Amino acid sequence: MNNTVAVLPGDGIGPEVTRAAARVLSAVRPDLECVEALVGAAALSKGLPPLPPETRSLCDRSVAILFGSVGLPQYDGRPLKERPEYALFLLRRDYELYANIRPVRVFSGLEQASSLRKELIEGLDLVVVRELTGGIYFGKPKEIRVEEGVEVAVDTMVYRAPEIERIARIAFELARGRRRLVTSIDKQNILESSRLWRRVTTRIAAEYPDIRLEHLLVDNAAMQLVREPKAFDVILTENMFGDILSDEAAILTGSIGNLPSASLGAARDGRQFGLYEPISGSAPDIAGKGVANPVAAILSAAMLLRISLDDEMGASRVEDAVGTAIAAGARTADLVHDGERSLSTDAFTERVLQALSG
Ligand code: NAD
Repeated sequence: MNNTVAVLPGDGIGPEVTRAAARVLSAVRPDLECVEALVGAAALSKGLPPLPPETRSLCDRSVAILFGSVGLPQYDGRPLKERPEYALFLLRRDYELYANIRPVRVFSGLEQASSLRKELIEGLDLVVVRELTGGIYFGKPKEIRVEEGVEVAVDTMVYRAPEIERIARIAFELARGRRRLVTSIDKQNILESSRLWRRVTTRIAAEYPDIRLEHLLVDNAAMQLVREPKAFDVILTENMFGDILSDEAAILTGSIGNLPSASLGAARDGRQFGLYEPISGSAPDIAGKGVANPVAAILSAAMLLRISLDDEMGASRVEDAVGTAIAAGARTADLVHDGERSLSTDAFTERVLQALSG
């Protein structure tokens, strides 16, 4: 059986939080072979492309990828193919990781860390299903050109019905194991791609008579997410709206450092291949200080266990250990308030490991 996990720490806080997650993963499943490889600026700084061939071949032979983050400010001005973020673009595109699942949970004890009132977010449990390989991030043409002496920038928002069908099915299936409500978010009053989105999601909903489907315009959804977040169960949306709304949803939990994600494509040899990563970026402002919150990375490892390794028990053990550590007062700097003491990334991880073995 293939038990290789590709560990791609990447840039900024990526190495700090990904190694924490790999430690937890190995503690729960010592049988896994976690193999590290370079990606992003970490590769570029060694004269390699953002996704070196060795890294890609490791991913090819792995059951899943545990990913950190890519991107550093000094690469921002470069052409896309020379930027660290291009690695993630290639991984998503080439492995057709079209479904991005982002669970949003508020851990008991962290309610005070949220910017919303406790009663609005206590017990919050929703999931964002974001389409990841279509829409305006991938549509062509995508360029800056000069027309009659004037610079013109073009991005193209395009969706094909089958792309909407497959992501909608993921959302409806997920809702079956939850509170059976799918909220599909679009901008159908303005965008043709959203009109198709609404038509196709409504058609797919007919296959799931046990699930309630609601539609919301994205501007209203952004408002409802902070007005009454507990009204949501499964949020289904396209690439860019999902990108933005899930950061908004993340902060409801107290910190963007809490939110894991899974990016999934087709099954490989009967197993669900996927890339698992925190939803945040490389946080260069705090990188190298040992203060990053590793919760998102550790919970991403739990998702890897559940989804790619079909190990529900291992996944629950990891999630319970994070919950236990937090309930006992473990907090990184982004989560403290009112004079609470903060722990370093390593010290927080130790508390999770202790809870695992306790
Ligand atoms: P960011 O998510 O890296 O940081 C936003 C804010 O959240 C910062 O203040 C940061 O300190 C804080 N933060 C993020 N993760 C945290 C954690 N685990 N613990 C504590 N605080 C945390 O967003 P940004 O600053 O806009 O982007 C930085 C770089 O990351 C850019 O180069 C961007 O392109 C890249 N990026 C990469 C990914 C990815 O690899 N999937 C995703 C988003 C952004």
